[in-house]
Amino acid sequence: MTDFISQPTIAPAGVMRPTQVVVNLDRLAANFRAIRRKVAPAKVMPILKANAYGHGLVEVARLMERLGADYLGVAVLEEGLLLRRAGVKTPILVLGGIWGSQIPEFLRADLTLTASSIEKLEAIDRAAEAMGITARVHLKIDTGMERIGVHYYNAEGFLEAALKCRHVRVEGIFSHFARADEADPAPSHLQLERFNEVLSFYERRGLPMPIRHMANSAAILRFPEAYFDMVRPGILLYGVYPSAEVPHTVEVAPALSWKTRVVYFKVTKPGHGVSYGWTWAPDRMTRIVTLPVGYGDGYFRSMSGKAHVLIRGRRYPVVGRICMDQMMVDIGWETAYNGDEVVLIGEQGDERITVEDLAEWAGTIPYEVLTNINTRVPRLYVGKLAGDKARV
Ligand SMILES: *Cc1c(COP(=O)(O)O)cnc(C)c1O
Repeated sequence: MTDFISQPTIAPAGVMRPTQVVVNLDRLAANFRAIRRKVAPAKVMPILKANAYGHGLVEVARLMERLGADYLGVAVLEEGLLLRRAGVKTPILVLGGIWGSQIPEFLRADLTLTASSIEKLEAIDRAAEAMGITARVHLKIDTGMERIGVHYYNAEGFLEAALKCRHVRVEGIFSHFARADEADPAPSHLQLERFNEVLSFYERRGLPMPIRHMANSAAILRFPEAYFDMVRPGILLYGVYPSAEVPHTVEVAPALSWKTRVVYFKVTKPGHGVSYGWTWAPDRMTRIVTLPVGYGDGYFRSMSGKAHVLIRGRRYPVVGRICMDQMMVDIGWETAYNGDEVVLIGEQGDERITVEDLAEWAGTIPYEVLTNINTRVPRLYVGKLAGDKARV
């Protein structure tokens, strides 16, 4: 027994609901190593925001720490605090914007802050001085997102101001691509040029260069000139390519599958509408099975009438509206029994349903499919690296 479960509810393991996200830690590890090989000697900062893209924040962080990740990246203070509370010791950069009142919390937890303006930088400096410590910060340069960060054309004053902060150590400096996942590389090259221009500040002044980082998953696949000293893979770490346009220059495979089981079976007569609104009714006698999963778990309601699932190695359509906690599948005159495994994302027999399939059905991107699977769904960790940590 090597698998272990991260269970948000209080049900004992044996009576837990059968709807589960299964995360293969060996796959995650293989993906991480493939990325590390590709970008070496650059360091790797796995991005773990939004519950590690649905894979489980703490468990993925622990794995990355075991594999020797150089840095961990999260979006908000709370994610960093959860990791520290779980005993994660690896440096953690919080990528998002910060509120002044939060700064002491960052510092107490030894989290690295993103300084995205002179005002924030000075607030960090003051807070660190009051605590008698030195804050570790990475400066955020906006080269084309118009999100947080100082515009590349105003960066000189920002970098100068950072030199004057005596209680701040500028450990890193970074920017973010807006269009690295598109076929046309020109916008990314423009952003790179802008970032390089900002970085020349350190050379011109003969100052030591902080850790430079810019590459997200798409840039890791396409732009070696954007690796600098460290890269920030998110979706690629989880084995999903950021778009259909990017080359597969790093071999990765999905680590997550989403499963449930048949909870009910019935025969439905022609013309008898299924689910809310009776938006669909069979035109023949058919067998309808109910699955205990719905949009309340993050299975998008907008996939009603489009989604398919796998049962006994075959693809079947989800019919009628997806409910909050249940949905129905038309298996025609085929066989399924209560308790049969149903694959929502993943493989069964020779069939496979991908995160990209769900994204297409829902009219969104793979990122949102993954992050939308919410914490009501227990995560089951499998693979050799799941070790003997079996627990509830
Ligand atoms: C989310 C995020 C990443 C990772 O993006 P992917 O496309 O998932 O690789 C990298 N850097 C920053 C600043 C991010 O917000």
